[in-house]
Amino acid sequence: RSRAQQQAIEQVETFSSHNYHPLPVVIESGSGAWLTDVDGNRYLDFLSAYSAVNFGHSNPELIAVATAQLSKLAITSRAVYSDTYGPFVEGLAKLCGKDMVLPANTGVEAVESALKLARKWGYEVKGVPEGLANIIVMEGNFHGRTISVISFSNDSDATDSYGPFTPGFVPVPYGDLDAIEAAMDEHTVAILVEPVQGEAGIIVPPDGFLTGIRELCDQHRVLMIADEIQSGLGRTGTTFYCEQAGVVPDLYLLGKALGGGVVPVSAVVGDAEVLETLRPGQHGSTFGGNPLAAAVGLAVVKLLETGEMQARSAELGAYLHQRLAEFIGNGVTEVRGVGLWAGVDIDPALGTGRAICERLLAKGVIAKDTHGQTIRLAPPLVITREELDLAITALAEVLVEA
Ligand code: PLP
Repeated sequence: RSRAQQQAIEQVETFSSHNYHPLPVVIESGSGAWLTDVDGNRYLDFLSAYSAVNFGHSNPELIAVATAQLSKLAITSRAVYSDTYGPFVEGLAKLCGKDMVLPANTGVEAVESALKLARKWGYEVKGVPEGLANIIVMEGNFHGRTISVISFSNDSDATDSYGPFTPGFVPVPYGDLDAIEAAMDEHTVAILVEPVQGEAGIIVPPDGFLTGIRELCDQHRVLMIADEIQSGLGRTGTTFYCEQAGVVPDLYLLGKALGGGVVPVSAVVGDAEVLETLRPGQHGSTFGGNPLAAAVGLAVVKLLETGEMQARSAELGAYLHQRLAEFIGNGVTEVRGVGLWAGVDIDPALGTGRAICERLLAKGVIAKDTHGQTIRLAPPLVITREELDLAITALAEVLVEA
């Protein structure tokens, strides 16, 4: 590693909080599926900033929209109307087949907003007595880092030393419809689910799980909240993973790629019955729905309307999974996932997920581990088959050499 990179790393380690464990590389620029470090070395990006960069680094269409908007107007707050906000919310609502959008910035804010909306709908529309609402959540979930959202995490790294926690959440095992039904009562207002659990290691639920949730929600007048912050916007080969399962949730939670890899943009998208419970002053965000975010968000909606990214993810994803299957029994114990999204469990005999990721870095591939043995692969959807082959060859070499 060059002196320049070493110094940049030391500066971060000295002056930044150590809440991440970055790979030892200092990135300077990005284009498509590629990242370049300060010494000019190139890497294939198989993380895509945790799926925030689904449409590639420096995507020309998105950068053009962002640059034009930036030089005109960036931030107003919603104290006034802006000319980009209306087209964004109309476009996003229609993309989702829903009535309305509540904008925010980061993923966890969309989750928090949905939890508040579900409780408010429960009290004001469903008629649950004030203060008694409960929301069913899945074990192994990852929905972000605020106090209320970690209150229903069962990952001790996420929760230790952060109590007291927010009450009102009932965890059940992911994939277990009987447990959900048993956990429901007359005060249940929502079921919150990742259609595919991302941080848990790309866990695709069993067939019938999401449709079963939909049916339970309909029977008991409960909102189905699908956190598609990571699974949505093309990652799995369709606009939403819920489509592949044949379900329509009451609320979609979107983030990450909604900002086109340019700015943070998130949203709750749902029907008027739920979103109309909010009146002026009852919820908000200074930056939520700002003109720059709205312009980029609308460009993302238009990109998704063409279906090109979803088709790439489906086609290249099938190829990726076919190639990864060859590694099972050869240094890999299991591969899960859908579309251009894979969780690859490394045989512990070869080392940890982190060790494999460090070796991949040395071969010019950036990927990140999760939960010890799993490495997740989530390249930008603009990646080509040849670029996928380069990374698969690198992984094959790393597994042989480990
Ligand atoms: N929900 C899901 C499914 C996620 O994967 C994430 C982030 O990884 C979040 C919510 C939180 O998003 P953010 O980090 O933007 O708050």
